[in-house]
Amino acid sequence: MLLKSKTLITSLFILLIWFPSAAALSVKDQYQQYSEVKTALDELVLANHILYDQGALDGYGHISVRNPSNPQTFFIARSVAPSVVKLDDILEVDMGGKVLNDDKRTAYGERFIHSGILNANPTINSVIHGHAASTLPFGVTGTTLKPIYHMSAFLGEGAPIFEIRDFAKPSPDTDMFVSNPDLGAGLAKVMGNGNFVLMRGHGYAASAENIRKAVFRAIYAVQNASIQAEAMKMGKTQYLTLKEAEISKATIEKTINRPWELWSERVRNQK
Ligand SMILES: [Zn+2]
Repeated sequence: MLLKSKTLITSLFILLIWFPSAAALSVKDQYQQYSEVKTALDELVLANHILYDQGALDGYGHISVRNPSNPQTFFIARSVAPSVVKLDDILEVDMGGKVLNDDKRTAYGERFIHSGILNANPTINSVIHGHAASTLPFGVTGTTLKPIYHMSAFLGEGAPIFEIRDFAKPSPDTDMFVSNPDLGAGLAKVMGNGNFVLMRGHGYAASAENIRKAVFRAIYAVQNASIQAEAMKMGKTQYLTLKEAEISKATIEKTINRPWELWSERVRNQK
């Protein structure tokens, strides 16, 4: 029996040496060892540049991707402006918002937006948060942001609004930042099964099952906000019906690689 236990322990030890878990490796090592991590991180860097170029993010804002080798962690840049993010800037963070790998560099204070949404919905693999000006009026007036055209059909019956005062403790008065796990969980709850949520007096969060779709949704939601505001000035506005939104979402989201190629080409040519 004792011999058996010893053999088992030795076998486990050998297994650990030969197959270290993804979480034990640095971001750089994971990039080099796992092709799916390399693909995800290359797209994550590119997505940062695209989101800035297309006006979905500015000097602030961020995008994350779930670790394809470990669904309990995600990758996100350290605290730098999206347009200058490089591979070296990427951190690994757990679902509690803790930065891993003993990385002491400054993380985004609002990484809890990402941990909250990724933790609440296992089918979501990428989250974007930004402060695009066109979305702000909808978060503060109660006028619902609704799909004005097929490109933003994913908005469905309209974007919910996260009221931070409903979740902030002990006082409802905050700096407006989603800066702890409770606020991140509250935001995820308001977002529900949708993929876009407005944050009152702050900005928005968008999500999808992959980076390209999350980028597509953030860009077209921001455009939808501008178009809807213009249309509302001109008179009574027609929105996609729920059925139209459902059908056109299925059609348009099959084609998202087309704008992705265009947006990628633009940012590559700027270098
Ligand atoms: Zn923010």
